Amino acid sequence: MRPLHIDTPLFESRALSIGAGRTIWLKLETVQPPGSFKIRGIGLACQQYARRGARRFISSSGGNAGIAVAYAGRHLSIPVIVVVPETTTADAKALIKQEGAEVIVHGANWHDANALALSMVEETDAFLHPFDDPLIWKGHASIIDEVAASHVRPDAIVLSVGGGGLLSGVVEGLSRNGWSDIPVIAVETVGADAYAQSIEAGSCIETAVTSIATCLGASKICEQAFSVSKTHRVHSVVVSDQAAVSACQNFLQDHRTVVEPACGAALAVVYDGAPELEEFNSVMVVICGGVAASVEQLQKWSGDLCVA
Ligand SMILES: *Cc1c(COP(=O)(O)O)cnc(C)c1O
Repeated sequence: MRPLHIDTPLFESRALSIGAGRTIWLKLETVQPPGSFKIRGIGLACQQYARRGARRFISSSGGNAGIAVAYAGRHLSIPVIVVVPETTTADAKALIKQEGAEVIVHGANWHDANALALSMVEETDAFLHPFDDPLIWKGHASIIDEVAASHVRPDAIVLSVGGGGLLSGVVEGLSRNGWSDIPVIAVETVGADAYAQSIEAGSCIETAVTSIATCLGASKICEQAFSVSKTHRVHSVVVSDQAAVSACQNFLQDHRTVVEPACGAALAVVYDGAPELEEFNSVMVVICGGVAASVEQLQKWSGDLCVA
C-alpha cells in the first residue's frame, strides 16, 4: 500500500550554512499535506490498524497529530473522532473538520479530553497515540530512508523532542540504514524539556509544561526515547521560547516558510551557533513543520516574549 506521507525535499540551505559556518541540510517536513512529519508515523499506524480491521480512529490531539489522524482517516475512508479540550483554537478545530473528522470538545485540559477519548474506544476502534507506539516510530524512520536514498550523509541530525516519537523514529531510521554512528541533537524549549529532565533524573519523569511550544509540551516522554538514548549518541539541548520564536522569524526571512516554535527550537541551535554543532561539518535539521503558527502569531509571540 502506498504510504500516506510524501517524500519531502532535502536541500542545503545557503543562508543557514553561511550563518553557521558549516553545511546545513534541511529536511522539509512542512510540505507534508497535513503540515508536519506526524503523518509519517500516524499514516503507517492508521494503515496497519485499518488492515487489522479498525472501523474508526480516535485521537485526543488538537494539534498536528489530530490533523494527521484526520487526514489518514479520510484517505483510508475510515471515520475519525478527535476529542479536544476547550483550549483548542478555532483554527485547529477547523483544520481537523476540513479533513472530514468529527471534533468533540471536552474538558478544560488535554487530560480530560484524553480521558473521554479513551473511554469511547470500542473493540473495532483504534486509538492513535501521538508518539508512543512502535508503528509511529517505524513510520517516522522513513525520514532517514529518504535521506540515505538521496546519498546525503550528514555528520549529525538536529531535531525537536516533544514526547520523543520523532527522536525514536529517527534513531530507528539511522539504525536500519547502517548509520548508527550519526549522533542526534535533541532540542526542547525551557518548560517543555521533559527529555532533558528525564536524562538528568535517570528515568522518564513527569514534568510541568509552561513553554509556548505546545507541540513539545508532553509532560512525559515515551520510554523508547529514553532507552534509545542509552544505545545511541543523543545530545540534549534546551533553548528558550524567545530563541525558538526568533529562529522561526529568521527562517521565515531565509526560506519564506512559517514553522511552529516547536520547530524553531531545532532551528535555534543552528541560528544561535550552539557549541554542540562545533565538531560537525555537515548537519541536517528536521524541519518538523506544524500548522499552529502564522506570520501574525509569530509576531504576537515575539512581542509577548520581547524578542530583541
Ligand atoms: C509532534 C511534534 C513535535 C514533537 O514530536 P514528538 O514525536 O512528540 O517528540 C515537534 N514538532 C512538531 C511540529 C510536532 O508536530
